[in-house]
Amino acid sequence: MAPQREWFEKDYYRVLGVSDTASAKEIKSAYRKLSRQYHPDANEGDAAAEERFKEVSAAYDVVGNEERRTEYDEVRRLGPAAAGFPGGGGQGGFDFQDADLGDLLGGLFGRGRRGGPGRGGRGPHRGQDLETELHLTFDDAVGGLTTTVHLTSDAPCHTCNGPGARPGTSPQRCASCGGQGVVSDNQGLFSFSSPCPVCAGRGVTVDDPCPTCRGAGVERRPREVKVRIPAGVADAQRIRLKGRGGPGQNGGPPGDLYVVVRVSPHSIFARKGNDLTVTVPITFPEAALGADIPVPTLDGGPVTVRIPPGTRSGRTFRMKGKGVTSAKATGDLLATVEVAVPATLSSAERKALEAFQAASNGASPRDHLGVEA
Ligand SMILES: [Zn+2]
Ligand SMILES: [Zn+2]
Repeated sequence: MAPQREWFEKDYYRVLGVSDTASAKEIKSAYRKLSRQYHPDANEGDAAAEERFKEVSAAYDVVGNEERRTEYDEVRRLGPAAAGFPGGGGQGGFDFQDADLGDLLGGLFGRGRRGGPGRGGRGPHRGQDLETELHLTFDDAVGGLTTTVHLTSDAPCHTCNGPGARPGTSPQRCASCGGQGVVSDNQGLFSFSSPCPVCAGRGVTVDDPCPTCRGAGVERRPREVKVRIPAGVADAQRIRLKGRGGPGQNGGPPGDLYVVVRVSPHSIFARKGNDLTVTVPITFPEAALGADIPVPTLDGGPVTVRIPPGTRSGRTFRMKGKGVTSAKATGDLLATVEVAVPATLSSAERKALEAFQAASNGASPRDHLGVEA
């Protein structure tokens, strides 16, 4: 690990609550105590604890390692200028003031971004975010429910519970990198690091691998995750389940699981936001004379809509509060009437319609178009 700009800004000894002359043993025991106290597993949903856990891990990453601690002490003793950081004088083409030097160097020398999704490297890594789909019926999406999603993903190995060693044995510090997970090419105060090829960046090697995961610590297996679907979810909506994603590495927190809701269409109703829409066929006499028409609702029995005489096909009637209730609001039911034309006529119906036409005296709905019949 190269010296980081944050080494000047952060007092890792204070973060761990130890003096800067503390022994390695004192630092280790302080770190153990704090990391247990703020571990995400023990503080689910507590963002402050998560932040503290990250700080503690980052601090131990540096001062918990003898070589790095020496570098850290040295760099802090000499100050930014001596370490090659522009000290605010603004010389040269780069302004490191707000930049994360680790990222800059990582980009320049082909190392993965710190804290990025790349695997390996010592120190805690947050687990991957995962995504899965959940198919819901129209009614369940409107009403909400608690259900279970099934997915196959990486999870902590159920035999060794993570370390990758056969139960009863422990992983050994990697002899090649001394447990740092990285090998360094020293160039003065800077050192450019790449993941250790022996331990693949984990900092440990497993002599007696767990028979289930063969030392990986994770296994791909089917999982069941309970998910509460709020009432009124819409198709394509994403629901975040914090901490239910991929497992973290080296004590890092797990990622999140996103459940993408797929809502199947209803045979009668459709949705426009929180409004429900329904098409209601009516007869020509009902449209012309007016009528009381039963309209179905999603929850409960039909409601009656009064169609005034002379209602045109395509007119929409709004029923307040009969739509979908979500966390934000309740929608309306929009019933659109559509005059149904019979495909076949009985002879009595035919006679009646011909009589109607004759009685209309040739009046045509096309008169305004200026075309002759
Ligand atoms: Zn295992
Ligand atoms: Zn190694």
